[in-house]
Amino acid sequence: MNQQSALAGSNTARWQGLDGAHHLHPFTNPKDLKQNAARIIESAQGIYLTDSDGNQYLDAMAGLWCVNMGYGREELIEAAHAQMQQLPYYNAFFKTSHPPVAELSALLAKVTPAHMNHTFFTSSGSEANDTVVRMTWRYWDILGKPEKRIIISRKNAYHGSTIAASSLGGMADMHQQGGIIPDIVHVEQPYWFGKRVELGTDLDAGEFGREVAQSIADKIEELGENRVAAFIAEPIQGAGGVIVPPDSYWTEVKKICAQYDILFVADEVICGFGRTGHWFGSDLYDLKPDLMPMAKGLSSGYLPIGGVMVSDKVADVLIDQGGEFNHGYTYSGHPVCAAVAVANIQLMQRENIVEIVHDSTAPYLQKRIRELGDHPLVGEVRGIGMLGAIELVEDKAGYKKFHKDRGVGVICRGHCFDNGLVMRAVGDTMIMSPPLIMQKSDIDTLLERAWKSLDLTLKDLA
Ligand SMILES: *Cc1c(COP(=O)(O)O)cnc(C)c1O
Repeated sequence: MNQQSALAGSNTARWQGLDGAHHLHPFTNPKDLKQNAARIIESAQGIYLTDSDGNQYLDAMAGLWCVNMGYGREELIEAAHAQMQQLPYYNAFFKTSHPPVAELSALLAKVTPAHMNHTFFTSSGSEANDTVVRMTWRYWDILGKPEKRIIISRKNAYHGSTIAASSLGGMADMHQQGGIIPDIVHVEQPYWFGKRVELGTDLDAGEFGREVAQSIADKIEELGENRVAAFIAEPIQGAGGVIVPPDSYWTEVKKICAQYDILFVADEVICGFGRTGHWFGSDLYDLKPDLMPMAKGLSSGYLPIGGVMVSDKVADVLIDQGGEFNHGYTYSGHPVCAAVAVANIQLMQRENIVEIVHDSTAPYLQKRIRELGDHPLVGEVRGIGMLGAIELVEDKAGYKKFHKDRGVGVICRGHCFDNGLVMRAVGDTMIMSPPLIMQKSDIDTLLERAWKSLDLTLKDLA
């Protein structure tokens, strides 16, 4: 399956050398990288990546959860090209605007939940979450409640990598490097499998979901409702390991958010734009958020663009009572990025991709990945829409994981690469977020390669 072309590869060593000598990579141990040069991805088409040696990989991560409509889409390329010629840059500060950002704002008001009709644009999900922090504080300040400052988030959440976004996130290894900003606290995550591993035994899902939800209410009571500004959560935790909560969780959290006078922020950076088989994760769970940060699938990753979708409740306060909001980015609503986002959403609509995912490909993916549950290494398979997670364990019945020093996830990820498949390892949890354009036959290929990679991992461990 990995065809080596005789001519390809002549540049690989050169690029690896340049990269190793001059490029500091994100989320990478630079010393490891010195020993094992980076894989150079040179081109891509559809759902396949091609590296500089001519090897092909089925990209079951859609880049980093973003290339939802696949690589090489002419509509997106053409939209960028045309906008570059027309107006490559202008800003939206000081009472100016431009056609692409106006069109995109209107389109987003249509595809997002009905009570959300305004967007504040950024260039990334991290900037969107920084904007969430500033906007939340601004909102309560305008309403004369500046003491409402604390934002409740969850352990193991991922909300981005700027200082505010990483503070909102619940990644301990990120917090260890430099700490977090004040007024952000973290409560439990609804990680049912993780809890069963912790206890070494089975556990009622519904009860567990309600208990974890209750920890949010407990935290609000402990801090005082008058000091709590917001609760933020991904509908399904992505980078934390595709944590699909028990059904009882969101039912209970919705009640808690309604009971207390706090804002609810649904981080849709991964779940948005069709990933769950609905336009937004908030549609799937009927969350009715006050703010909705988004990025990634907004442009299918073709250009960097993100934003915060603002509910009418918050927008009314900001617009009618707030005066100037001293916040914005040079590239907020960048015309070329906005034009590509418009083209991407129109392409999604034209191809009915959300419906196809919902009715056909997601049910098929979910059915097929659950077959992996029969593999001796697999303790649980979970997922929803075009999201999946496979827990690798030492002992299925006892919910016992491997010692983390054995690096089983990394071994499996290596076999996936060698067998033409990109899956990511979060500890020993293999995760996937394939392009939404996957067809059933592509899913069959994915499964074949995943099964083979699991077999090879098991062999290595013996
Ligand atoms: C990726 C991600 C972010 C950060 O987005 P960037 O564009 O990388 O800054 C924020 N929230 C969630 C849920 C994400 O998955």
